[in-house]
Amino acid sequence: MTRLPRLVAAVAVWLGTALPCAISLADAQPRPTDIAAEVDAVYAQAESLYKDLHRAPELSGREEKTAATLAAGLKALGYEVTTGVGRTGLVGVLQNGAGPVVLLRTELDALPVEEKTGLDYASTVRTKDDSGADVGVMHACGHDIHMAAWMSTARIMAAARDRWAGTLVLIGQPAEELLRGAQWMIEDGLLTRFPKPDVALAIHDDPRHPAGVIGYRAGPSFSNSDTLRITIYGTGGHGARPETTVDPVVIAARTVLALQTIVSREISAFDAAVITVGAIHAGTKPNIIPAEARLELSVRSFTDKVRAHLLSAIDRVVKAEAVAGRSPKEPLIERVDGADALVNDPGLTQRIATALSKALGPARVKEVGPEMGSEDFSRFHKAGIPTLMLRVGAVAPAAFEAAETSGATLPSLHSPLFAPDRERTLKTAITAEVLALRELMPARAGPASR
Ligand SMILES: [Zn+2]
Ligand SMILES: [Zn+2]
Repeated sequence: MTRLPRLVAAVAVWLGTALPCAISLADAQPRPTDIAAEVDAVYAQAESLYKDLHRAPELSGREEKTAATLAAGLKALGYEVTTGVGRTGLVGVLQNGAGPVVLLRTELDALPVEEKTGLDYASTVRTKDDSGADVGVMHACGHDIHMAAWMSTARIMAAARDRWAGTLVLIGQPAEELLRGAQWMIEDGLLTRFPKPDVALAIHDDPRHPAGVIGYRAGPSFSNSDTLRITIYGTGGHGARPETTVDPVVIAARTVLALQTIVSREISAFDAAVITVGAIHAGTKPNIIPAEARLELSVRSFTDKVRAHLLSAIDRVVKAEAVAGRSPKEPLIERVDGADALVNDPGLTQRIATALSKALGPARVKEVGPEMGSEDFSRFHKAGIPTLMLRVGAVAPAAFEAAETSGATLPSLHSPLFAPDRERTLKTAITAEVLALRELMPARAGPASR
């Protein structure tokens, strides 16, 4: 509401200066508001921070330098900053009078991927991973885009405090790629030591859409993920005398096939579900029957009901196949990792999508499909906070068009070739964040608060 006069003024100025006079007001699409000028004014700093972060990626849980860079940046802008929240996490708070508390999250971590983009600011960082292997390190998920946008949003919000009221809680979250950092921060008092958020927002770049576009989706958007390790026991012996053994390789092979029918025969065709046996380990030599075999599974779903059915059916099938194969001991089924489905609050999603569409035009704000990936931003939803993760397209529009025409596959997130269309992606991310925050924390009527 309070933005309307400014919007009208901005449209009038824009029409007066930029449009050929043959186009009438009635023909005009929604025009950029003064948000575009605000974002232009911070862009040089955003790009410089982005390149610095891109050149110096750090693996999950080891984001010390990244966190220090962001902490120093927020402090300089006047935020009250606390570091070491959930290991390398940080929290910056800006109080700006009475109003809602809104959390905006960025991730800090990069991936063990050797960059192959050929960009002049490509990462050449190498390190040892937790297993001691030498690995390249790259921001292949675009978390550097998120951090640079987040810092620019912090800058705009700190500079224009008359345009919003409330408390802004900016968090830099470690170890998203391990699906653990959000929980680390919550366990370390994120929701009790700091102003408790009424709403939590995040943004993620998206290699499925052209840069300039903002994607939203109400309800489940990323899947539940459960990683299982299953040990099947046999009785080892000579490969030439199988009758003296119980062969766990054969039981494992039957188990892998039996697991395939859970999704196809027990889950409705209208429910999304995946069971993938991504790893199978057993044995050392052709003439030795081993004593055990290990399977590693990735299990995906969108609802609690389907998730519970999949896990219970896996338990049933694995144990029954072991009995059928004369296994001497019940299999060990361990859940080693996982995340809950990311569920965007429907009311919040609609409110922000409407506000963005009004400011930027419907062509730039699109409903997007769900993904069978996982995100630990879901921890905030599980903690009872209404959440929304927006997506920002990351592909140069010309490359996107060319790929649509030719059917070529564009590099996905986590690819060594992933290179977001830097300027458009950053500017769109900053724009979306600032507009969403101002929608959620509108300025009070009357004189400016500061
Ligand atoms: Zn990722
Ligand atoms: Zn990511």
